Amino acid sequence: MNRVSEDSLRKYEYTLASELFGGRKTYTEKGLLTSKYISGKFQSNCLKAPFWKSYAQIIPIQPTPLHHLSPGLDEKISNNLNNVSSGNFVAQNIIGILQGRNAKKTHLVITAHHDHMGLSEEGVLYGADDNGSGISALIEVSRVLSEAAKRGIRTKRTIVFVSTDAEENNLVGSDYYVNNPVIPISNTYCSINCDMIGRVDSLHSVSSNLRNYIYCIFKDSTNRIFTNPILNNLNEIYTQLELDERYNIDNGSYRVSNLIKRSDHYSFIRKGIPSIWFFSGFHDDYHQTTDTPDKICYAELKKRIQFVLALVWYLANN
Ligand SMILES: [Zn+2]
Repeated sequence: MNRVSEDSLRKYEYTLASELFGGRKTYTEKGLLTSKYISGKFQSNCLKAPFWKSYAQIIPIQPTPLHHLSPGLDEKISNNLNNVSSGNFVAQNIIGILQGRNAKKTHLVITAHHDHMGLSEEGVLYGADDNGSGISALIEVSRVLSEAAKRGIRTKRTIVFVSTDAEENNLVGSDYYVNNPVIPISNTYCSINCDMIGRVDSLHSVSSNLRNYIYCIFKDSTNRIFTNPILNNLNEIYTQLELDERYNIDNGSYRVSNLIKRSDHYSFIRKGIPSIWFFSGFHDDYHQTTDTPDKICYAELKKRIQFVLALVWYLANN
């Protein structure tokens, strides 16, 4: 847990959310640059490449999955669909595998999306929180676990790291992955998604003792993998965050009941796989040019990633 490094997180964030990466829009050269960067990280973290020597899962142009669009709330996303142009660039998920000790066991999938929305009239949409923060988690968790594996401390279950593309185009990348998985989807134990985990929202910034929190949004029809006792016990031992479940409770409000559909975990839920989404909340910089790496709360991000690591470790060994 102590190997999760704030310095590393800063490096990932200041690269991914830079001028050079230009908003990481799918189907552009910036999207390609992003894919290459993540492939490079997976390679230096010694993850196995599932496609011969490549980490890239090319996604053929998809009929957009409109299955979960609902009016109003998702208007922004559907507007974004109109901006999709293929050009010479493809969408691609970047996938790396950390082999477990027991090949017979089911495996874990950890997801985060690497695409963002490119440019707006005001300039680059940097996407530091959305979702440089989740990609930082994906890279850092894979780094720490693979360093442990090198020292002979290897999880029982295999872990598949999936950096998804075209999430902002209505979950295209994760939808493609669950229909074209690198290990049969029926062998997936559960999925863990990190999307926007780097900020402190207005509900928690009012006082310093509220800042260490994470929203847990999950669906597990087995009631065995993502349960309050498991999450709370791990958190109590390792991180002492506030596990905020307000978005997990469907109290009939439109916003809450639709949040479960808002990121890549939903593609897995549709396949009946127990899934959890870690999220630190919406803010004024969401989908704006002001979602920049200097605004990331690195100490809080680190702690959240430590919790993700503890959870991955526990689930990969039990
Ligand atoms: Zn996102």
